[in-house]
Amino acid sequence: MNTIQPNRIAVRGLKKSFGDNAVLRGVDFTVRSGEVVVIMGPSGSGKTTLLRSLNFLELPDTGTIEVSGVQVVRNGGKLTRDDQKKIRAIRQRTAMVFQSFNLFPHRTALENVTEGLTSVKGIDKARAQQRGMSLLDRVGLAAKANEYPGRLSGGQKQRVAIARGLAMEPEVILFDEPTSALDPSLREDVLVVMRELAKEGMTMLVVTHEIRFAQDVADRVVFMDGGVVVTDTYPASFFNSPASPRVREFLHLIDG
Ligand code: ADP
Ligand code: MG
Repeated sequence: MNTIQPNRIAVRGLKKSFGDNAVLRGVDFTVRSGEVVVIMGPSGSGKTTLLRSLNFLELPDTGTIEVSGVQVVRNGGKLTRDDQKKIRAIRQRTAMVFQSFNLFPHRTALENVTEGLTSVKGIDKARAQQRGMSLLDRVGLAAKANEYPGRLSGGQKQRVAIARGLAMEPEVILFDEPTSALDPSLREDVLVVMRELAKEGMTMLVVTHEIRFAQDVADRVVFMDGGVVVTDTYPASFFNSPASPRVREFLHLIDG
């Protein structure tokens, strides 16, 4: 990219504890519009908590979160009415894809995708179905529109979940280990969809251990350990010449 894009995500001094377990201990990073940033780090380092804090599924204790120009400053205490309004705005601009898919089991693939269109966006059923079909087609699942999640493979479920996220026309997509629950043979179908989204310029923050994806697609790799960002660098330097011993140790582990 040769023009400097604005920040889509900016996190400053983010802290979050559960009781006396300080999980995020001052996290800072930014993601520019159209960037793909991969977050890596050992289990328990706070990656999920960070992602969930970005759209306030977890309430951060202190720090600043800015998503798509909407800024919430936390300094302990309760959320003000103004904060709540901003959080709704952030959620409207953000989609989240979970490790565990989180589809409605008693709704078909198509109904899972159109649910938000009719209930949140108030789009009429016929148009929602049309949009839903074109999104399912985009993730390669038009033929599965009327199947229930129980009859889909993990990779297909995850692609339905991505289509559902896209239905809300997000400006940012947060992925939390989207392929970790999948058999290796099913991962690639999901990664192909993610690669296409990246190519189309979607802003993506992706927690993943998929090395190839990170090497090919990421603009940067943010490495977290112990609730802080240890390194934030280009994939080539992260994988080929990691400066930190903690990164080297981590890469050794995930490389098997
Ligand atoms: P990661 O995704 O990097 O594996 P997590 O953010 O899931 O890490 O977890 C980091 C730490 O936060 C863990 O010690 C975990 O037990 C704790 N934790 C996460 N969510 C909660 C919660 N809702 N209540 C209490 N502790 C939590
Ligand atoms: Mg996690």
